[in-house]
Amino acid sequence: RTLKVSTGEQTYPILIGRDLYARLPEWLRSRGIGPDRPLMLVTDTHVGPLYGEKVAGPLRAAGYRVGEASVPAGESSKSLEQLSRLVEEGLRFGLDRQGVVLALGGGVVGDLAGFLAASYMRGIPFVQLPTTLLAHDSSVGGKVGVNHPLGKNVIGAFHQPLMVVFDVSTLRTLPRREVVSGYAEVVKHALIADASFADWLLRNSERLLRLEPSLVEEAIWNGCRIKAEVVSQDEREAGLRAILNYGHTIGHALEAASGYAGLTHGEGVAIGMVGAAMLAEALGTARDVVEPTKRLLQAFHLPVHLAGEWPEEKLLELMRRDKKARGGVYAFVLPERIGSVRLVRGIPEEAIRRVLRRLK
Ligand code: NAD
Ligand code: ZN
Repeated sequence: RTLKVSTGEQTYPILIGRDLYARLPEWLRSRGIGPDRPLMLVTDTHVGPLYGEKVAGPLRAAGYRVGEASVPAGESSKSLEQLSRLVEEGLRFGLDRQGVVLALGGGVVGDLAGFLAASYMRGIPFVQLPTTLLAHDSSVGGKVGVNHPLGKNVIGAFHQPLMVVFDVSTLRTLPRREVVSGYAEVVKHALIADASFADWLLRNSERLLRLEPSLVEEAIWNGCRIKAEVVSQDEREAGLRAILNYGHTIGHALEAASGYAGLTHGEGVAIGMVGAAMLAEALGTARDVVEPTKRLLQAFHLPVHLAGEWPEEKLLELMRRDKKARGGVYAFVLPERIGSVRLVRGIPEEAIRRVLRRLK
């Protein structure tokens, strides 16, 4: 199945299905990339051994020259050090301005290899080959970048991929915690834009957690569809795109406060969506959103409470530094009802404190 993302600069396809990599040569050619163009496959130490050859094999057989580079699995590879290493490998391999980067992996590889492509020789094309459920989100939309020791994603660019090829067969080997965490963003897409998709997710959560292929495809397709719609309307985050940040104000603060070790991104976002729903109810801008939100998240075995001790002042400070906040004024994406959210600025600090306590 194919979706299309249109931005000011280009339109690109998102292909979703099973056992797709054999068709990469054909699709590359249809996007204007023939075997005369050097390809550099970037992956990580978990994904490379599992799927590297599945991608590179058919391309080599079709006459492409394919270089391979691998980074250690994990968030810490989204760094300037790894970027610099990849540049070195690219130069050694002979990746030139005609080159194309293939990003095979989860959001870490997608963001890193995408930023490599955005900056290498002032920008070359790249293809997203997502292999995690979460990457249905990160591979669409063109945000790429690396972390700095002082902040997540602070060095980056907008660089849209040439195409996204999501082979859902790769999800079979994904660790259980990553599966659960990835569903947080699928649930987010339903909660911000599509109440009937939220119902469907609730009805099918157990089968989705078991990764039944046709259902997973459907879930990813809908998640990508919603993300693509939002991004197509607002590529550079002038306004609407901010709604994709639902659950992320509290979520990012929790991730940062845990040193990116205690909670996964999806777990943080899950708790953050419950917090945002509590905030909306407390401010009187929405009714009956907390319970349905919790029910849906719990159906995917995602956390809806804060376990353990969390430093309230530190969390508030992190939320004031959130990129939606301006001049120390808190901003949150709040639900209006299931399937609809909007950005609200100037949330009173006392209301946030009460929500943080209620989340325990
Ligand atoms: P990840 O890329 O670290 O993958 C999670 C783990 O699963 C890693 O250990 C990886 O090696 C392993 N893995 C990946 N695919 C596998 C497979 N098929 N089988 C077995 N193991 C596999 O993490 P993620 O959750 O995919 O992505 C998180 C990153 O995405 C964060 O850095 C976040 O900032 C970024 N992100 C970016 C955007 C965006 O718009 N660019 C959006 C959301 C998240
Ligand atoms: Zn996210």
